[in-house]
This record gives sequence, C-alpha cells and structure tokens, in this order.
Amino acid sequence: MDIRQVLIDIYASKANGRYGLSDVNQLQHALQSAALAERDGESSTFIAAALLHDVGHMIHEHGEDAADHGIDDTHEELAGRWLAQYFGPEVSEPVRLHVPAKRYLCAVDQSYFGKLSLDSVKSLALQGGPMSSAEVTEFERNPHFEAAVRLRKIDDRAKDPTANTPDFLHFVRHIDAAISASPVS
Ligand code: FE
Repeated sequence: MDIRQVLIDIYASKANGRYGLSDVNQLQHALQSAALAERDGESSTFIAAALLHDVGHMIHEHGEDAADHGIDDTHEELAGRWLAQYFGPEVSEPVRLHVPAKRYLCAVDQSYFGKLSLDSVKSLALQGGPMSSAEVTEFERNPHFEAAVRLRKIDDRAKDPTANTPDFLHFVRHIDAAISASPVS
C-alpha cells in the first residue's frame, strides 16, 4: 500500500467534517497545524505529525485493525497505532499523546486552562481532567512528551477560520521526508 497516496485520498475525501465546535473543517485544521509547525521551524517528522494528528477521525474504515479494536477507541490511540504501521515513533507518538498532553498542560501550567476553547474544556472532563502528579511524572518519562506538548499547543491554535495555508500537496514533502527519516522499526 502506498501510504502517501492513501493519505492524499483521505484528506481529499474525508476531511470536510467540522472540527469540534470551531468554524474550521478537519482539512483546514490539519493544514493550519502543519503550517504553524513549518513556521516554527520544526522537523519534517514533526510537521507530518501535526498534519496527521487527527487522522483518527477519518480512518475508521481504512484501519486494518479498526474492526478489532479501533471503532470504540479514542481518536488519538487509533491514529497513533495506525500511523505506527507506516511511520516511526517521531510521528506516531506525538499523535498518540496529543490528548494526554492537554491533561498534562492543565496540571503543570496554570494559564493553559484559561486558553482552552469551549469544546476542549468540555472534552477535558471526559478525558479524565488534569493529570495527577504521578501521571505527570509518568508522562515526562516518555521520550516524545515534549513533542506531544508542542503539538498540543499548535492544535489549540489551529482553529482560525480566516487563516490562509498551503494545500495538502505542499506538505506531502514532509510525509515523504518523515518516511525516510523515521522508518518503521
Ligand atoms: Fe486537533
């Protein structure tokens, strides 16, 4: 399977759903996330993670294991597992951890909670609320936790209905670079 073409097809056909309660759709949110990462001078693996971080909302019928354990799963776990079939952990781990990263930031950064959008505040309760200090310690042990936190902050910002971004094909170079830089082990 050519994952590059699969991703182009997914984002051309399945990314038109609204992104939470915001005025952007999934495609705009993905492109804004990748564009912010690119502007921040991030690596191609991180830009690919930013571009693909919500692919879990779009792959239900694509994931080979979706029927076994994906359908009822949270979107970040599904996406992390699915991406790990094609990319190294520099891509799949920040994606898998981008929801725990919100619970982490709420525990360690007093000002963070006040910046969350209404739908993020609502989902926080369902996701378990802020992390306990034991959970914070455990989270910081993951070698990809800092990337997950940076991805989370980009995710929070990528909801601007007036933003102009490059199109999906512009970012395919980062998908290609991420596949060569971080092969599946
Ligand atoms: Fe997101």
